[in-house]
Amino acid sequence: MILKQTSLSSPIEDKIAWAQHCYKEFGDDLLKEKKLVDLLAHLKAAVVASRREMALTGIEEICRRCDREEGGSCCGAGLENRYDGWLLLINLLLGVKLPKTRQQTDSCFLSGKSGCLLMARHVICINYLCKKITNLFEPRTIMKMREKESEEVNTLFMLHERIKTVLRKWTNA
Ligand code: SF4
Ligand code: SF4
Repeated sequence: MILKQTSLSSPIEDKIAWAQHCYKEFGDDLLKEKKLVDLLAHLKAAVVASRREMALTGIEEICRRCDREEGGSCCGAGLENRYDGWLLLINLLLGVKLPKTRQQTDSCFLSGKSGCLLMARHVICINYLCKKITNLFEPRTIMKMREKESEEVNTLFMLHERIKTVLRKWTNA
């Protein structure tokens, strides 16, 4: 029995409940599905590579200071609504613990004390850079980072499609 699929406009708490339900019911089997497991491993490697690139450029440190010391984070309340249940389920399959409550009223539901809690993020979260950053860095530095990020985004897309196909087949949904 699978919980009714949530829509993009459903509250984040419902989407998290749906993802957790699917994970409980099908997580073990999903983690035995070879193509899915390969894609999850590929995504992990792509996330590590793009975060490493972000750290090497110095952007990570600027964003860390902006978020924790200057109160200028771009992870505002409401951004969690961009996420669907599938992307949250991918995070659970990657071992991420999803939050039960919002940490700060004006922050994204999916952010914790040390920043974003997710490993698999929405393309908006992966790509967003404010003007302060784009003005500070050479276009070729940003381009190099974009190349790494595109691997992350492409793998996420394939993962999304694979999980949907497999789960729909198993549940006849
Ligand atoms: S992208 Fe800009 S606004 Fe967002 S955390 Fe980094 S410096 Fe701050
Ligand atoms: S990066 Fe994470 S915390 Fe920030 S808006 Fe996206 S999901 Fe929320």
